Amino acid sequence: MYPVRKQTFYMLFFAFMFAVTIIMPVSGTVQADETPYNPVPYEEIHSILEEHEDESDRVSVEVIGESSLGHDLYSVVISEPEDDLEQIKAMREEMIANPEEAEDFIEENPDFKVPFMVNGSIHGDEYPGTDAVLQLIDRFAYDNDETTEHILDNNVLVFNVVNNPDGRILGTRQNAEGFDLNRDHVTLSQPESAANVDLITEWNPMVFLDLHGFIIRSNESPGLIEPTTGPHNPNYEHDLYLEHALDQAEAMEAELVANKQDYETDLYQNMEGTHIPYRDAEDGWDDYPPIFTPMYAMLHGIYGHTLETPNNSVDGVKWHFDAVMGSLKFASDNKMDMTKNQLDIFRRGIQFDHPEHDDGFFPEAYVLPVDETDPTVTEKAVNNLIRHDVEVEKAETSFTVDGDQYDAGTFIVPLDQPKASLANTLLWDGEDISDQASAMYDISAWNLPELWGFAAIPTDSEIDIQVEEAGELDIQGELIGDGPYEVPNSSVAAVSLVNELIQNDIPVYRGENGHFYVESSNGDTLRQAVEQSGITVNTASIPDDAEELDHVNVAVLQDGGQHGIRTALQELGFAVDEIEPQQITENGLDGYDVLVANGSGIDDSDAYRQNIHTFIADGGKYIAIGSSASNAAAELGLTDADIKTGARNSNGVVNVNYKDTSLTAGYDDQDVGFVYNPVWYTNIENDRVIASFADQDLFKAGFWEDAEAAQGQPVITKGNHQGVTLMGLEVGFRDHPEYLYRLLSNAIYPGDETILTTAAGMKERVERYENDGEFEDASAARSLSVHLEAVSHYEEQEAAEKVIKHVEGFQDLLDHQQANDMISEKAFNILNHDADALIEKWQ
Ligand SMILES: [Zn+2]
Repeated sequence: MYPVRKQTFYMLFFAFMFAVTIIMPVSGTVQADETPYNPVPYEEIHSILEEHEDESDRVSVEVIGESSLGHDLYSVVISEPEDDLEQIKAMREEMIANPEEAEDFIEENPDFKVPFMVNGSIHGDEYPGTDAVLQLIDRFAYDNDETTEHILDNNVLVFNVVNNPDGRILGTRQNAEGFDLNRDHVTLSQPESAANVDLITEWNPMVFLDLHGFIIRSNESPGLIEPTTGPHNPNYEHDLYLEHALDQAEAMEAELVANKQDYETDLYQNMEGTHIPYRDAEDGWDDYPPIFTPMYAMLHGIYGHTLETPNNSVDGVKWHFDAVMGSLKFASDNKMDMTKNQLDIFRRGIQFDHPEHDDGFFPEAYVLPVDETDPTVTEKAVNNLIRHDVEVEKAETSFTVDGDQYDAGTFIVPLDQPKASLANTLLWDGEDISDQASAMYDISAWNLPELWGFAAIPTDSEIDIQVEEAGELDIQGELIGDGPYEVPNSSVAAVSLVNELIQNDIPVYRGENGHFYVESSNGDTLRQAVEQSGITVNTASIPDDAEELDHVNVAVLQDGGQHGIRTALQELGFAVDEIEPQQITENGLDGYDVLVANGSGIDDSDAYRQNIHTFIADGGKYIAIGSSASNAAAELGLTDADIKTGARNSNGVVNVNYKDTSLTAGYDDQDVGFVYNPVWYTNIENDRVIASFADQDLFKAGFWEDAEAAQGQPVITKGNHQGVTLMGLEVGFRDHPEYLYRLLSNAIYPGDETILTTAAGMKERVERYENDGEFEDASAARSLSVHLEAVSHYEEQEAAEKVIKHVEGFQDLLDHQQANDMISEKAFNILNHDADALIEKWQ
């Protein structure tokens, strides 16, 4: 019996939905007619599934997690009533652990069943995916035709029905946190992607189909089905995947074409095939980064495919339905050979036998030493690896490898394991692939050790010691001695601890060395917070230069920038509000201490500009991150540096020279950074520069063809006012480069970097302004230069009083020049402010 479905038509909901439906901006995109349809609202899905579970003995429904807004995520498993699902899961585990025995077993028992997984609408506004999943569930719950029998004889169907409830409800691609879940499979920062990964590792499916929209490369071949073009992630056993993936894609294509007479619109009735990037394109649709769900699944040895339906319509739903049917028929007919290739992937891993890879591509193992004082980052990494189903070992004794000694308790990730490809892709350094393609679809470097900030040392030596399997970690911190105490500026957890203490009214001081200090305390609050943080906090004297930290209120400009900045600030423990530019125009920034901008958002009004300048003049801090925000800062007159940008979508891990300032406390002189749409600053004096791209070999991994242009160029600078900081590094990108988050907290807390201005730097600025025609004549500039030369002389002698006296004289001269129209307003304002800063510095 079929359940009756109520489909309420929410007029406003759909009006909005069609307004946000966008054909993806790829080359050769063709617009086509769409027949509007009523996607099943999220709110109705639960009762639909419950009814199927009641009516059909093939269906089991489970809640597998919650979205960021707290909406349930549902898995539906469809199998023959007599199937023992626990036994099928156990057999999949056995296949991974013992692939050779498993191969013998399946040859003797060819009636084995394979899990086949379909993921519905990970992008919330790509509605047809979930609707197709619901129709597939409807069909396989009740039908008894030959095709159904054949498919259920060979497969267990596993559906993640609606992977992004927030997005389906809100009509957005992202979840309610603003995260694109189909970019989150390395970090697992969002509950929806984590639940997806848990479902994958629970079932270890043979096939994984991810249902998206909307692509029309040509009217003859609308839609898109992977496999992809290159560059391919070299960690794959790609030959074994490809042996069946292309055939499977063509089977889906054939099923679409075979059913074309049943579609409603011309586009579909006339289709001759679909776009298969591997077959039909040179590059531009790659499977390089494991952030995409099917690419991630491939690293589990799964046949992963992204499916892009042509458009948001009844036909678009049917397109997904038919494509999945094509794949199911193919998998049913080919499960033996497909499974054998999967087993071979696991066997290659376990036996360290990689015929398609150069010797040495995979190290024998990674060694993850644990920092005694602050183990929090390694702890997070180990827990992440375990959640990814990567085997992690813990040394039971101390040991030496490659001449270095490691303590008992050190973690080891051996690469002779079934999911070696996945382990290596999470821990390797990455590579420079700038010459491998004309364009990349998304990020091209993601390695966790550098971007999270933990050591993972590859070794080609064998580590022959006693180990135990590592389980999930929950390390307790410890407060040692009678205080006062030092909290190291070593991790996000450390900064979060500091902010928690401040919010609990426990005074915290920050030394010029960048570390934090707390007086001894009788109460339990400090001890409990430290224990929870995972950090060992030792007794140490508070340096004389330490300054007490105030509670700060941070505003983040909501402006369509790369999502993640707000999350990064929250993880650092700051109180954060997301505000719109319009709010600044109307209300100013009263009540906020810091404004962080990470996109192009700006309100084009005098009031906006005036309120930003007032905020900064009153001591507010303005932090601009990335190219759009840097350009916006220049438009607002907050910097007079030139903003230079690399080719669009260039991205990767870079080498950065960090100057020794409090803004860079906790980073080495030569350390890493991360860029996405790289930006750097020129026409800027040295006393504004906080960090520069390395002078040579700046690019470590990723895709950035014209990186040489940025070599040695400033990438973190101060603006015209010391309260303004510009960062070319994408420090909060998608909750990923956690190692760089402390550049934000360092910029937010007070520190010596707030006044880097020197008379020498001002003199260079005067020369630049003279070249730019900011002075009436050369003599005006010359007299300022002569004055600054003297100040510089006293600065070197550290003669504070004389510095101040002569800077005051310099300001008199500026006033005189301004009164006589000898200097532009811009040059006057900037130099006058510099002079104020210099006086403040030497007072
Ligand atoms: Zn999509």
